[in-house]
Amino acid sequence: MRYVSTRGGSVDRRFSEVLMEGLAPDGGLYVPTCYPTVDEVTLQRWRCLPYAELAFEILSLYIDDIPSDELRAIIASTYTPETFGSAQIVPLRKLDESIALLNLSNGPTFAFKDMAMQLLGNLFEAELGRRGAQLNILGATSGDTGSAAEYAMRGKQNVQVFMLSPRDRMSLFQQAQMFSLMDKNIHNLVVEGSFDTCQDIVKAVSADLAFKRQYNIGTVNSINWARLLAQVVYYFSGYFQATNDNSERISFCVPSGNFGNICAGHVARMMGLPIAKLVLATNENDVLDEFFKTGRYRARASSETMVTSSPSMDISKASNFERFAFDLLGRDAQRVEQLFGMELSQRGQFRLTDQETASIARYGFVSGKSTHVDRLRTIADAWQRHRNMIDPHTADGVKVAREHLLPDTRAIVLETALPLKFEDIIREATGQEPPRPAAVAGLEQRPRRCEVVAPSAEAVMAYIARHCNA
Ligand SMILES: *Cc1c(COP(=O)(O)O)cnc(C)c1O
Repeated sequence: MRYVSTRGGSVDRRFSEVLMEGLAPDGGLYVPTCYPTVDEVTLQRWRCLPYAELAFEILSLYIDDIPSDELRAIIASTYTPETFGSAQIVPLRKLDESIALLNLSNGPTFAFKDMAMQLLGNLFEAELGRRGAQLNILGATSGDTGSAAEYAMRGKQNVQVFMLSPRDRMSLFQQAQMFSLMDKNIHNLVVEGSFDTCQDIVKAVSADLAFKRQYNIGTVNSINWARLLAQVVYYFSGYFQATNDNSERISFCVPSGNFGNICAGHVARMMGLPIAKLVLATNENDVLDEFFKTGRYRARASSETMVTSSPSMDISKASNFERFAFDLLGRDAQRVEQLFGMELSQRGQFRLTDQETASIARYGFVSGKSTHVDRLRTIADAWQRHRNMIDPHTADGVKVAREHLLPDTRAIVLETALPLKFEDIIREATGQEPPRPAAVAGLEQRPRRCEVVAPSAEAVMAYIARHCNA
């Protein structure tokens, strides 16, 4: 399988190159030249496979430059019951007659980002070993991404992680989760400032090409194709767990932010998985709901981006969205370049033609929005009627899924986090304390390791130069 850029720059890459590069040189995102389709016989065979073997079957359709045995071993050591808490890895549980929840949040940090990040860590380690190279990962986080990245990279050969976070802006639990890591290759840099300050520093450091090259600075962005590919697997697994054979069509509803998760659903559907609708749920930050309803895509200014009670969906623009747009626009890279490379970067928005907008339906997408009041009500309802405790992101998904239920079609809502990290809203909605897995008992009392740095690119670069592998 070869990979090309959504903006048509003349690149022709293999998986391992795409893995290490992230963004394409022309500013586009890497996509496979085609989506391999699976026939009925293959689906039937896959239905019986354990998760890691299913993942191997799917990933090997997209990866041909890692020897099969090695790829199989990497995947087998990633998706284990020890790391993900159950033999199914992503167990399905019933909410009511029409909705089931696919639990993607039993990994080391209790958020679905572990599903992809754990694999990414192992793929990085293997590739760096092959190349005899070092990687210094630089990132900014206000919560889940940072901890998922750190738990995936801790103790890895040839990798150092430098994670910036805004001082005192993360929840106590999130701080404790990251700062209690004692691994020498994990560096928590606490910045006096906001999340935007942290992100600006990362951008400034990455823009210094000489520094970037000298210190092999890389990222673990959600735009990395390997992360998206890892997520395709659980759509298949969820479908197989929910059905007895491959005749039933199921809808998936996805609490969305950067469009990575639901884009993996799009890939699964393109491969032939019988998905009825892909239902996209946003919170108050509704860039994507607006797009799927009107064909207009308008990135929000940071002053317009709201802080909500489903914080991992608080986005101003959706960084993975360009991949779907590429398919929607008939893989016309010139049109993508015009919309994303020019109109979006110059005017902050674009509008599709009526004909282009009409073609959205062919891809099965519909959307909806959920607000704080909806979230509270949905959490309370799931608790009172079904004794099922759901987190605020999943609640956004359940609310929007209900609005799009089709007769005779069941829906799977992706459970993207556990209630554990959102005690306040859970308490308000249910009067209960969210249960705490044994693994995090006393987390807040553990010793902490972090470093306060001045809010400047120079200070961060100096820190990296002192502590990195070069
Ligand atoms: C990251 C995240 C999302 C959004 O996923 P995208 O792939 O960015 O659309 C939703 N819920 C939770 C809990 C997350 O951590």
